[in-house]
Amino acid sequence: MAHHQKTDVLMTASRTLAEQITSFLRPAGRWLTIFGASVLLVAFLLASPMVLGEYAQQILSQAFFFAIAAITVDLLWGYTGVLTFGQSAFFGIGVYTVAIALAYYVDGALATAGMIFAAMVGAALVGAAVGWLSFWDRASPIYVAIVTLALPVVFTQIILSGGAYTGSSSGLPIPVPFLSITEWYYIAGGLLLLVAIGAYVFVSSDAGRVLVAIRENEERCRYLGLNTSRLKIRLMTACSAIAALAGASYVLFSSVAAHSYGDFVFGTELVVWTALGGRGTLIGPILGTVGVNYVSALLGGNLPFIWLLFVGFAFVLVVVYLPQGLVPAIGQGLSMLVRPIRQLLNRGWNAAAAGAQPGAWAAGAAVALSSAADALGQRRGVIGVPDEAPVLELHDVGMQYGSLVALHGVSLKAYRGEVVGIIGPNGAGKTTLLRCIADGRERSTGEVLINGHRIDRLPPQRCVAFGVSRKFQTPNVFDALTVLDCLRVARSYRKPTSPWRRSRTVELPEPALEAVEVSGLTTMLNERAGHLSHGAKQALELAMVLAQEPTVLLLDEPTAGLTRDERAAIGSVLTELAQSHRLCILLIEHDLDFVREISTRLVVLHMGKVLLDGPLSEIADSDLIRSIYVGGTA
Ligand code: ATP
Repeated sequence: MAHHQKTDVLMTASRTLAEQITSFLRPAGRWLTIFGASVLLVAFLLASPMVLGEYAQQILSQAFFFAIAAITVDLLWGYTGVLTFGQSAFFGIGVYTVAIALAYYVDGALATAGMIFAAMVGAALVGAAVGWLSFWDRASPIYVAIVTLALPVVFTQIILSGGAYTGSSSGLPIPVPFLSITEWYYIAGGLLLLVAIGAYVFVSSDAGRVLVAIRENEERCRYLGLNTSRLKIRLMTACSAIAALAGASYVLFSSVAAHSYGDFVFGTELVVWTALGGRGTLIGPILGTVGVNYVSALLGGNLPFIWLLFVGFAFVLVVVYLPQGLVPAIGQGLSMLVRPIRQLLNRGWNAAAAGAQPGAWAAGAAVALSSAADALGQRRGVIGVPDEAPVLELHDVGMQYGSLVALHGVSLKAYRGEVVGIIGPNGAGKTTLLRCIADGRERSTGEVLINGHRIDRLPPQRCVAFGVSRKFQTPNVFDALTVLDCLRVARSYRKPTSPWRRSRTVELPEPALEAVEVSGLTTMLNERAGHLSHGAKQALELAMVLAQEPTVLLLDEPTAGLTRDERAAIGSVLTELAQSHRLCILLIEHDLDFVREISTRLVVLHMGKVLLDGPLSEIADSDLIRSIYVGGTA
């Protein structure tokens, strides 16, 4: 029988201004809020020409097209942590695909629409190639910076060497449909609204949380079974197509294609505008782009150099003093102002809801945490008796760092229901051993089998599929996400996340649910993980790892830095996991008393070799163990 539990908690964590607004209006529902905001913005867009002159509309139309490209920079850099200078090149691909087509080959509305689509497809293909070059497994973070720096340079060279065909440095004039300035203003503003709303729906969805998780701790994501390379390549592909859409539409507005729309300077400006406004907020890059372009047009004519100097100076100041950008700083100020009103309203809503449905609003809006249909229930077995077939086998595993041999011919078998304590002095090779089990690319020699599957040279995200999960030595959680979102991201390996829906519940398998309950995390589901105590972070990471439903659980000093009570709680969870849920646990610990309390078997490592391997009862008091820990010579 599945064990079901519901916990009601207040959803208070608000990170971006947009999220603060959504959270403020939460009872109206996320979709209703998005719809309401869209209607307001459309009305504002339609009414604004009444107060804006034609010059202002023209400048703003240009800024709106640029802002679409800035949104793609924000999705990549602000949300996912991929710093890119190359979005200008995709904008340029859009500009030149449509310009060359209209200048030489096609004409008419349908053909123009077809060329915009072709530009998006072409940019998406280039984006996919750039993504693959930048993010292939084991690519270092510097790759993307180099590739995206090179891209606008290559693009500009192609345009400049194209002679009269591309217009070279003089630009390529094209025949464009005649539309009034106000009509262009509506088109540019409408397109920006559409892209901004789509981007907001995406980043505030469950899949959007995964992007932030990648930004916060990509390694943890990989060890949670997420193929981060593939996710980033897909995102780069989509962002390239959107930037091309902006460029393709922009050239119809400007009627001249110029190489500066795809060059490195424009690529850097997009990054600067995004940083000034506030990355990772969507609204920040839009306001940053529109603000800088608008003021540039007003001041740039009279004070061209001083204005550029001012923008550069402002950029440096913001990076140093407001690293999150201007909009989050303003948002924080505003939220301090509205907090009393919000608290008052929340109290009113809570009281009303508590009256209607006792308990459901006890602490605010309902966010449920429930156990998954209990596949693990079938794993319950006889307490303390290991299964016959090993779930983990190591044959002659060796690991060398240059001339240093960290592991030497380690062979080991482990079974369900066992807690194997791996002990040994510092530098014995304990962490290296866990690394070799969780990542096929780590070991130098030998073989590792998980549930009968050879892990060969597979990366950690593929090893997770065989049933192995690893908890790191220091707590590895996603600091910017709430506890609930961390659990949801961890669970996304089993249950794919939606790119538009924002779920308010997360289904967890029973062991993960137990870890959450025992550690008291149920009362902190909407706390930011970065604000948790060390012990709570350790428990959260354990719950995240258990959300993978592993059969082999690798724990590297899970009680380091914990209080006595926290240690006892974790100990009871681990014992329960092995006994009731039949997990095989490999545990590195320096606290010998803790190891004695919960292990069923001990493996002693010394200088990369297994010195002793046997049941706790037989070897716990051996002279060897005493000498290793007390410093004797046995
Ligand atoms: P501790 O208890 O201090 O965590 P450990 O038993 O886990 O130690 P490992 O971290 O596995 O030991 O290290 C085993 C040996 O390999 C040590 O001598 C260490 O210095 C070395 N080592 C570990 N990682 C690397 C690395 N990335 N490059 C070079 N040497 C390394």
